[in-house]
Amino acid sequence: MSQPGSRGATAGLQAQNGAAAASGSPYSNGPVQNALMSSQVSAGQGYDSQLPGSYPHLMPAKSLNPFSGQSNYGGSQGSAQTLNRPPVASNPVPPSLHSGPVPQTPLPASQNPAATPMPSGSFLPGANPPLPLNWQYNYPATGSQTNHFPHVAQPAVSGTTNLTRNQQYVSPGDPSLQTSFIKSGSALPLQNPPLPTSFQPGAPPGPSPAGGPPPVRGLMSQKPPPRVVPPPSFNSSINQEATPQLTNQNPKTSRSVGYAYPSLPPGYQNTAPPSATGMPPSSLNYPSGPQAFTQTPLGANHLNASMSGLSLHPEGLRVVNLLQERNMLPSTPVQPPVPNLHEDIQKLNCNPELFRCTLTSIPQTQALLNKAKLPLGLLLHPFKDLVQLPVVTSSTIVRCRSCRTYINPFVSFLDQRRWKCNLCYRVNDVPEEFMYNPLTRVYGEPHRRPEVQNATIEFMAPSEYMLRPPQPPVYLFVLDVSHNAVETGYLNSVCQSLLDNLDLLPGNTRTKIGFITFDSTVHFYSLQEGLSQPQMLIVSDIEDVFIPMPENLLVNLNESKELVQDLLKTLPQMFTKTLETQSALGPALQAAFKLMSPTGGRMSVFQTQLPTLGVGALKPREEPNQRSSAKEIHLTPSTDFYKKLALDCSGQQVAVDLFLLSGQYSDLASLGCISRYSAGSVYYYPSYHHQHNPVQVQKLQKELQRYLTRKIGFEAVMRIRCTKGLSIHTFHGNFFVRSTDLLSLPNVNPDAGYAVQMSVEESLTDTQLVSFQSALLYTSSKGERRIRVHTLCLPVVSTLNEVFLGADVQAISGLLANMAVDRSVTASLSDARDALVNAVIDSLSAYRSSVLSSQQPGLMVPFSLRLFPLFVLALLKQKSFQTGTNARLDERIFAMCQVKNQPLVHLMLTTHPSLYRVDSLSDEGALNISDRTIPQPPILQLSVEKLSRDGAFLMDAGSVLMLWVGKNCAQNFLSQVLGVQNYASIPQTMTDLPELDTPESARTIAFITWLREQRPFFPILYVIRDESPMKAAFLQNMVEDRTESALSYYEFLLHIQQQVNK
Ligand SMILES: [Zn+2]
Repeated sequence: MSQPGSRGATAGLQAQNGAAAASGSPYSNGPVQNALMSSQVSAGQGYDSQLPGSYPHLMPAKSLNPFSGQSNYGGSQGSAQTLNRPPVASNPVPPSLHSGPVPQTPLPASQNPAATPMPSGSFLPGANPPLPLNWQYNYPATGSQTNHFPHVAQPAVSGTTNLTRNQQYVSPGDPSLQTSFIKSGSALPLQNPPLPTSFQPGAPPGPSPAGGPPPVRGLMSQKPPPRVVPPPSFNSSINQEATPQLTNQNPKTSRSVGYAYPSLPPGYQNTAPPSATGMPPSSLNYPSGPQAFTQTPLGANHLNASMSGLSLHPEGLRVVNLLQERNMLPSTPVQPPVPNLHEDIQKLNCNPELFRCTLTSIPQTQALLNKAKLPLGLLLHPFKDLVQLPVVTSSTIVRCRSCRTYINPFVSFLDQRRWKCNLCYRVNDVPEEFMYNPLTRVYGEPHRRPEVQNATIEFMAPSEYMLRPPQPPVYLFVLDVSHNAVETGYLNSVCQSLLDNLDLLPGNTRTKIGFITFDSTVHFYSLQEGLSQPQMLIVSDIEDVFIPMPENLLVNLNESKELVQDLLKTLPQMFTKTLETQSALGPALQAAFKLMSPTGGRMSVFQTQLPTLGVGALKPREEPNQRSSAKEIHLTPSTDFYKKLALDCSGQQVAVDLFLLSGQYSDLASLGCISRYSAGSVYYYPSYHHQHNPVQVQKLQKELQRYLTRKIGFEAVMRIRCTKGLSIHTFHGNFFVRSTDLLSLPNVNPDAGYAVQMSVEESLTDTQLVSFQSALLYTSSKGERRIRVHTLCLPVVSTLNEVFLGADVQAISGLLANMAVDRSVTASLSDARDALVNAVIDSLSAYRSSVLSSQQPGLMVPFSLRLFPLFVLALLKQKSFQTGTNARLDERIFAMCQVKNQPLVHLMLTTHPSLYRVDSLSDEGALNISDRTIPQPPILQLSVEKLSRDGAFLMDAGSVLMLWVGKNCAQNFLSQVLGVQNYASIPQTMTDLPELDTPESARTIAFITWLREQRPFFPILYVIRDESPMKAAFLQNMVEDRTESALSYYEFLLHIQQQVNK
């Protein structure tokens, strides 16, 4: 837990994420004397956070006297005891909520984006100067910091959590290492030890022992033979976290390496394994002995060679006139560009699904970057479910002594004993233990260690790095039970899903669970082991909400499982007759926060309406007439209550996930802050109703299944480092920026994406390669401290043409979308739209004026950016940024939340959907995945020109699938796939395809199933006839076509051309 004092100095140096402007907690009610509590409960009711490091003992032993405060609800709401807070005792107890690392002091104005006058032309506009309608991608010096100060790498906030402590573990060269080596050195492999018996593990460095490998070859070695990647062994356990990585069980061996498999929920099993070579290939054998490891270490001398191998396809060098070649959309999914690196480096590089850069060739100077007018940034999906993930258990995690970078495939070994950091260039010693390679069981091959062979790797953090014991998995569910909520029938779905998945919640014997419900009052449920039934406790004093019996409300799941199941079975019926229409969401959240503060954990909040009572109450402010306007809409929160509470949550390692199930305006702009700043997620089910909207029910059930069972990391922090000279200055995603480059993530989930913007602070003329490294430190649901590290390496270039050639148009579009959300909120939607268009105009103008030698007519673009105008047009028509439609405000806000929180691949699909013709699917070119044949129809342009009335077309828009059936569609498709006699008998609402015993049906279903497996959440399928109301949504996604308020693609190209050729 951090020191409150240190927070003020460091919090929110980065203001992009909206550092707290909180001036003290608005609900600083400490525990008070309570007649029911008697004098036993005074200074700590379990939500006191003043005892860092000992949270399990925070709960006082005293509890509410059962006779007075609780009663069995017995299936009837009325029987529950209402607890009114008695008058505050005369000797007030100091507020205890302030003792945690919650930011309590107002931040300087400079840290508040809204209050910061930004220099003209920056992308983070302030209110003051009139804004130019474009982005300058170089960030002003304020708040920006180069990444190479030794101190930067050290946590700037002294006491963030034990995670911070991880940054400060024993460094190489520390005497204690010697000790640890001696200790572990006793653990020589018993089989085929490659060492002479005379070798003393703790002996000072000397010649390689006989029988060991030859000394590391010179760095100038010949072309290396193909690398043999150690194949991982396979553990078939479904739950990765239950799967011990392959630590050597030999008690004498303390160092071992294994590959553990992440949890793969059904439907994820067939996700294509990461193809880039950062990952070991799939194989089921674990090397039992020394491997023919022939990888040449990458060293400084390797770099020359690396620059000679142009990997660009000749096509990539082409200049395209988009006015002549309008259809540049490939018929297969757009692939990320391959960085122009020597193949030996590239094959070790990080998988672009995890880590990618908008420019795969990094401009040497900021001046060159400015010239290109393209944004420089990274897009990350750091906690993605992986088919293979090397996990290292080692008592020595090797990091740079100066900048704390984890050793990675792109460092250079000067010799066997020294390695040079690829981020700060410091020369470090190779620790003795690192000389032993547990994979090959050979000494003296530090460059063959898995840490140096894998751009993506996970470390087990030794226990001495922890300030407090890793927190247990804690799950608290906060459920709206107002009349409106009961009407929707959602409680049934949620409770049933929980019942079904209770045993699949990630966790262990320490898992805790609890429930709070609320309407105009807040209800708690005692689930203490030994009770015959759950007991409901109602707190009606929502102005000053307190926790009636903290120790019995969050209970051990194993010990109280029957009570929990009882509650889940009863809950949906308990409120069926309620007439309570009010919603005291804010007080319920305060109560939930207090309950979770001692441990941290995940809070899942289900809300069905606008909160109306107590703190955080909101007013309707959507004006339907202005929905379509780009101005004057309420994209900013109307209160800072939710943000402040989220920051408090973040400080106590609590993340809040919000499930909004509402047909009415619920002010998601305000509510969403609770998730955004606490590193949670928002899920939105508009018009959820158990009878009227069965597809939403199906969607919620499927998505809850994923939500409840997916991997989760607790009390996490993520730090992104980059090579000296580059600077990270703006972060996008759901988190709190704790110090300049440290993101606080109370929870991390495998479905969250992040983006950062960068600038070139110092010239990179002396370097040919730069690297980026993200390190995510978290506590697994099994209570292990783990560090997941991804490292990306990219070349540096000196010419504008090379910068353009290496542009990654999807990553650029994704980063621009994130920037545009910020711009929409801080300035206006129309401002953001203009900036998007100008991003295209500026970069293509730069290309035309600075790269092209002859000024040809037309719209000339580098091949790498051939889809840039199309993707930006698609963004303009995306729900976040579109105008001229009747999009509901909450739906727009939700789309913006998605832009910020989704991994790039999903963001691109929701922006530019994939369209396929599916009435004549064939097996030609089909994929074969575990005995399933999956057709791969070509992707079509998004234009009605591509449709025909005699066909059927499937549009994959990420969160929704739309199957449009033409009026004259072949009878064969109607009967063999849809199972209907004729067009007229297609039901108006059809959201499922029948499983027919026909090859056509099998192919179609296989294809749709496969598409659904590509994403974590469940897209609903709508079958659309001509008269269907969904047809408008289908056509809305035809981004190349003209609409009433938006240009067609061709018109857009003409507009761009005019501006570029000015
Ligand atoms: Zn370093």
